[in-house]
Amino acid sequence: MKRYDSRETGYLPEHFYNIKADLPELPPPPLNPLTRQPLRPEELEPVFCRGFIQQEISLERFIPIPGRVLEAYAQYRPTPLVYASGLRKYLDTPARIFYKYEGVGPAGSHKTNTALMQAYLASQEGIETLTTETGAGQWGSALAYACSQFGLQARVFMVRSSYRQKPGRRIMIQLFGGQVEESPGPSTASGRKYYQENPEHPGSLGIAISEAVEAAISQPATRYSLGSVLDAVLMHQTIIGLEAIKQCQEFGLEPDLVIGCVGGGSNFAGLCFPFMTKRLQGKNGQRFIAVEPEACPSLTAGRLQYDHGDSVGLTPLLYMHSLGKDFVPPPIHAGGLRYHGMAPLVSHLVRMGLVEARAYSQKQIFAAAEIFLKTEGILPAPESAHAIAAVIDEALEARKSKKELHILFNLSGHGFLDINAYDQNGRKFQPGDPAPAR
Ligand SMILES: *Cc1c(COP(=O)(O)O)cnc(C)c1O
Repeated sequence: MKRYDSRETGYLPEHFYNIKADLPELPPPPLNPLTRQPLRPEELEPVFCRGFIQQEISLERFIPIPGRVLEAYAQYRPTPLVYASGLRKYLDTPARIFYKYEGVGPAGSHKTNTALMQAYLASQEGIETLTTETGAGQWGSALAYACSQFGLQARVFMVRSSYRQKPGRRIMIQLFGGQVEESPGPSTASGRKYYQENPEHPGSLGIAISEAVEAAISQPATRYSLGSVLDAVLMHQTIIGLEAIKQCQEFGLEPDLVIGCVGGGSNFAGLCFPFMTKRLQGKNGQRFIAVEPEACPSLTAGRLQYDHGDSVGLTPLLYMHSLGKDFVPPPIHAGGLRYHGMAPLVSHLVRMGLVEARAYSQKQIFAAAEIFLKTEGILPAPESAHAIAAVIDEALEARKSKKELHILFNLSGHGFLDINAYDQNGRKFQPGDPAPAR
């Protein structure tokens, strides 16, 4: 078998990029939920492993990627940068469209990038179990895979409605050796609060986070792991953008516009942050668009405020765009985008005017996904289809204004395990239908 050692080929970036080193002003710090004073790093130690906390607070521009993590990345990275010639032809646009395809990872999305780094850091400190929450199951399956690579146990609290309705990723988690529980459930005090009132409670990400955090702080050799939102998680995802910059150079491409969908903000940040350095230095006028669902519009309708990351209020207060910790979004199919908050760093960049935010409806994104499937041959995750909807709009706008702009977007995952959602929402287009007008 041909195994690809990244360090021989020099193809994989060997550092993550920390955008905080280049920001003119940092976002307001996280607060202790009880005292409302800036959180001291030691206060996080019962929850996260120390190596992760160090990365969370670091202001170094580049953080080295350990050799064992690079080897694990090399199984599926670098991911392809693809020229979307079929989509361009269909839209009859002068815009050139490219995408970075993260669906080739072991769990079918970008989430393995941070999962592997977090599992590695925990394994270095003698941690035996990582707890976490998962909605639709993308994050849970990524963490279960990563734990299997570094000899750890994954304990996953899965939102009950997904556990029941979307067994695909629950099965994946179990195949990777992870342990899955329906949330809210009876095994934590946070879960019991809801479970005793209603054993069929559908659950939410906020409640599942409370359960996973509680399980981590109450068990020995156990820590909690989060799949998005935090600065260090966004930083781990910059491997996407760092690879993309190199691949763009090979294509002779300089994107005018970079687009990603946002749930907690990590795949968007991962692609965009490495590109943003030049814009921060005033060297170009590149645009960045973050796309979210109309049903969970934290950036376009939420308030920038201090809020908890979970429903019970166990987590630090983060200064972020939020719909409120008690907001329970309607059950849309893009489960990975159903989070009430947004990464503080992405919120900050929106406030600085560097990132534009936009929301699309479920109907719009399924239509965009079908166009993509028929023109590019990949069934996108419903989450990623939000980015595609914005790409299509921008490409049609370029057709009107006859601008030959370069658009790059993140295809954060594939939609094979969301096939039932397509069954319920798809088949709006027939082959040969004309391209949409704008
Ligand atoms: C989880 C997920 C998202 C949303 O999370 P971010 O942290 O905003 O990236 C987007 N796309 C896919 C495929 C996901 O699994």
